[in-house]
Amino acid sequence: MDSGHLIMGPELESFENEFANYCDTKYCIGVGNGLDALRLLLIAYGIGPGDEVIVPSNTFIATWLAVTECGATPIAVEPDCRTFNIDPTLIKSAITKNTKAIIPVHLYGQPADMDAINVIAMEHSLIVIEDAAQSQGALYKGRKTGGLGNAAATSFYPGKNLGALGDGGAVLTNDSFIAEKIRKLRNYGSSKKYHHDLIGFNTRLDELQAAFLREKLKVLDAWNIGRKKVAQQYLQYLSPEKVTLPTIPKYSDPVWHLFVVLSNHRDELQQYLLSMGVNTGIHYPVPPHLQPCYQNIVNSDLKIAKRLSKEVLSLPISPLLQVETVKNIANAINDFNPS
Ligand SMILES: *Cc1c(COP(=O)(O)O)cnc(C)c1O
Repeated sequence: MDSGHLIMGPELESFENEFANYCDTKYCIGVGNGLDALRLLLIAYGIGPGDEVIVPSNTFIATWLAVTECGATPIAVEPDCRTFNIDPTLIKSAITKNTKAIIPVHLYGQPADMDAINVIAMEHSLIVIEDAAQSQGALYKGRKTGGLGNAAATSFYPGKNLGALGDGGAVLTNDSFIAEKIRKLRNYGSSKKYHHDLIGFNTRLDELQAAFLREKLKVLDAWNIGRKKVAQQYLQYLSPEKVTLPTIPKYSDPVWHLFVVLSNHRDELQQYLLSMGVNTGIHYPVPPHLQPCYQNIVNSDLKIAKRLSKEVLSLPISPLLQVETVKNIANAINDFNPS
């Protein structure tokens, strides 16, 4: 408060430099939230009505909302059930003359197969926008997510691996033209006060959140290691006969935003764990194409997304979870017998 800078000041600028540096990108532009980061990117690339954007069928709805908010049409592609990420082999048949971009999501903190996706994008002149909201710090073939496509969007919603103390988000890119456009779009379309080149928005990352994020960025790697340890315990102790465990491809060094297993008796298993005081989550119970808000969008029968929504269960994970607790949860699951 004493500095007098509450919006667009030195904390934001420092955080943007530090996070760009962390992600190995040239530019980071703080915005109000992750959804706006995606939406502003689509607008910056000139994507709008009549255009199609390829999205995963099993993502958090924000990935789809960004597409429909700019007037374009989301075209869903199903995931590989082992990794939960968009299946690159299914992308080609979803491409039409109207396709402009692909938004791979690094779901649950596990990197999507970016090389395969980028090859297809190159062949069809498509833009690749990573949805890196769940993957801060995750590596794909040794490279940070957020710098693997044309640009990336991330979120600092409090529950993410790098969470603010409120809403926040950022755009990452190596493209100076796009970076400049996002800088304007987030701030009423202007770079000089009261002069407006673009029809912009007001969606900025404020100083207080940027200051919190600068502190939390310092411990992000340590916290991700903490999550990794919990995940390793689960992988070691959980019986693969009781639940389907996540697969980690060779190219992937995930940050375990969530630890998701599959069960044919998911609801009963969730109730059983709850009765023992173990809170679990479902990410996500209803896939975007089955949401009431998207009933007017023409979608093919997205069987995998639908099945996953009935089988996924997110086990407790956090950097602070004790080894003993993880073992106890794993043992409880191993003892579970569906009725
Ligand atoms: C959280 C999230 C978003 C949206 O971020 P907000 O900051 O909540 O708007 C987008 N995509 C994915 C995959 C997310 O998990």
